[in-house]
Amino acid sequence: MTKTALITGITGQDGYYLSHLLLNQGYRVVGLVPPHRQPNLTKLGKLANQVEIFTVDLRDSMALLTAVEQLRPQEIYNLAAPSFVPDSWKDPLGTLDLITGTATRLLEAVRQVGLSTRFYQASSSEMFGDVLFSPQDEETPFRPKNPYAAAKMHAHWTMVHHRQRYGLFACSGILYNHESPLRAPQFVTRKVSLGVASIKLGLTDTLQIGNLDAKRDWGFAGDYVEAMWRMLQIDEPEEYVIGTGRLHSVKDLVVTAFESVELDWKNHVIINTNLLRQDEHFQLVANPSKAKRNLGWEPQVSFEQLLEKMVKTDLEQLQSGALDEVLAAGIAPLPRM
Ligand code: NAP
Repeated sequence: MTKTALITGITGQDGYYLSHLLLNQGYRVVGLVPPHRQPNLTKLGKLANQVEIFTVDLRDSMALLTAVEQLRPQEIYNLAAPSFVPDSWKDPLGTLDLITGTATRLLEAVRQVGLSTRFYQASSSEMFGDVLFSPQDEETPFRPKNPYAAAKMHAHWTMVHHRQRYGLFACSGILYNHESPLRAPQFVTRKVSLGVASIKLGLTDTLQIGNLDAKRDWGFAGDYVEAMWRMLQIDEPEEYVIGTGRLHSVKDLVVTAFESVELDWKNHVIINTNLLRQDEHFQLVANPSKAKRNLGWEPQVSFEQLLEKMVKTDLEQLQSGALDEVLAAGIAPLPRM
């Protein structure tokens, strides 16, 4: 029997990689997309013709109930979120409603329709926030520091409660930063890959960076969607911390990206102190041993391979004109790292 998977946030980075994985596994893939965001379906590229789109306002409980009732999915992946964390300060309530509201409405729909649908919630390492120790695992307390993280934490607990109270097969991945050539340009990894590619092609000569010392646990999105899928294939629904377990600094990021095109970063990088922020005492870095033990999951793409892939794709896309729109929109200022 062909399995049906519903995905919210199908037009995002993870939506693309997850759709690709599920289509390869023979799933029927249906994206739940609000009408006003359908122009963004072009982001699915060649996958747009292989997935189905169900038009639905994610804020409408009845409409989601109808979608679940009609489509009767075996799996739901709830990925929709305004994922650029600083933006959540501009609209805390909208962030809460989309992230927590959509998770709650979908879980309620599964419960009310009475299906045995398996549910994945896209949780985030941001929920750990102001960490008191490193690395973090599934037992680490949440200390969110921004509206995005608070909303993710609320959605996470709602998922846990629905599992405990109603016995739903609901689980979540607490994912650390994961990147790809599809990462939005406001994120530092993509800003660096685009900057390096532009410098290599002579389109610009400098790249502004705020804090070379900031560190993150960065992995490849294609590896992380594999972990999401594996969580829904095993017998017990649980939470999993998904990350590489390795920290790299922004300086590592910059050096590696410039090295991939044989340029010396010192000739091009400008430190912009306006973008500096106070040092973090403890770092967000994963202890993914539970995922390795229970899911057999380990990241396959190294930090160096990830950056090489991102810079190479940006070079090709800049040369073909595929990024003209991104350049015309102007690359947003660097996020504070
Ligand atoms: P992304 O590329 O920013 O994609 C986000 C998706 O959510 C897009 O499809 C976007 O639609 C949709 N969306 C945003 N605002 C919406 C709204 N108001 N109504 C309906 N849809 C909306 O993010 P991603 O990297 O794929 O991340 C997937 C999920 O994992 C997100 O929930 C994110 O918070 C979480 N996560 C990501 C990371 C990471 O490092 N990437 C780490 C931890 C957790 P449009 O295309 O129309 O904008």
